[in-house]
Amino acid sequence: MRKIKKYLHPLIILLVFEAVAVTLWMTKDNLFYLFNFSYIGLSIAFGIFLFIKKYKYARRIVQLLVGLYMLVFLGLISNENMQIEGFWYYLFTGVFEAATIHYAVAKIFGPLLFGRGWCGYACWTAMVLDFLPYKVPAAPRKNLGWIRYITFAASLVFVSALFLAQVGQIERIMFWAFVAGNIAYYAVGIMLAFMLKDNRAFCKYICPITVFLKPMSYYSLLRVKCKKDKCVNCGKCKRVCPMDVDVTDNSRKRKNGTECILCMECVKSCPNGAL
Ligand code: SF4
Ligand code: SF4
Ligand code: SF4
Repeated sequence: MRKIKKYLHPLIILLVFEAVAVTLWMTKDNLFYLFNFSYIGLSIAFGIFLFIKKYKYARRIVQLLVGLYMLVFLGLISNENMQIEGFWYYLFTGVFEAATIHYAVAKIFGPLLFGRGWCGYACWTAMVLDFLPYKVPAAPRKNLGWIRYITFAASLVFVSALFLAQVGQIERIMFWAFVAGNIAYYAVGIMLAFMLKDNRAFCKYICPITVFLKPMSYYSLLRVKCKKDKCVNCGKCKRVCPMDVDVTDNSRKRKNGTECILCMECVKSCPNGAL
């Protein structure tokens, strides 16, 4: 019984993804959804299992399993634009497929359950950025979060303009937008990481997807919480946090609370098991 309890989290995640996989497979009559969501669910559950086993690189394994699958197989081989432009594109065409399903599950409704788990375990941009040397930010957060609203608006304007101008072969354009968008994200993300000595600078200031992720993750069911009776206020958890979250404050309004990517670095570092 204790063993089952220990592995309850990966089991629940696996079951949630399987429920999505089977529902979409049945309703859409498309076997791809069964494979897609089963693969992602299994990868994440496997990563949580490795984390429970205290394997140091558990999160990196999940990032590579899911991130490479989405970038290479879905994006480059299957020509699905899973970036925000792809989401607008499918939304405008009124089709509940690919990017719209992906956004609904991972970035709009999913965060009500698992917060910004997408950012910690699945995003293919962060998969590369997390290899850079500045895992813990070297300086306090800058007041540049407003840039995300510009990139968000730019993506919407770009796709709207394609539709308004009735440009032909939009599907082909979306594929190349995916390629160009990713090159730009990696270039800007790597440059910013070195300039600001912070691997996650791109996530904090530029990424347009956070416009969805931040408000939805405010209500997340899954959160890192602090057992106040065990905390000795050593501050270690805040020093190791890549997203500058004040994790010792249990309120939803805690400083940078909607930035938590559930990476568990704070949990691993706490000397008293207070998190
Ligand atoms: S903030 Fe954006 S770039 Fe960063 S991990 Fe999340 S989705 Fe990826
Ligand atoms: S690392 Fe643990 S003990 Fe130290 S401040 Fe954070 S929660 Fe408290
Ligand atoms: S270190 Fe803790 S508070 Fe910071 S992002 Fe990771 S899980 Fe969230």
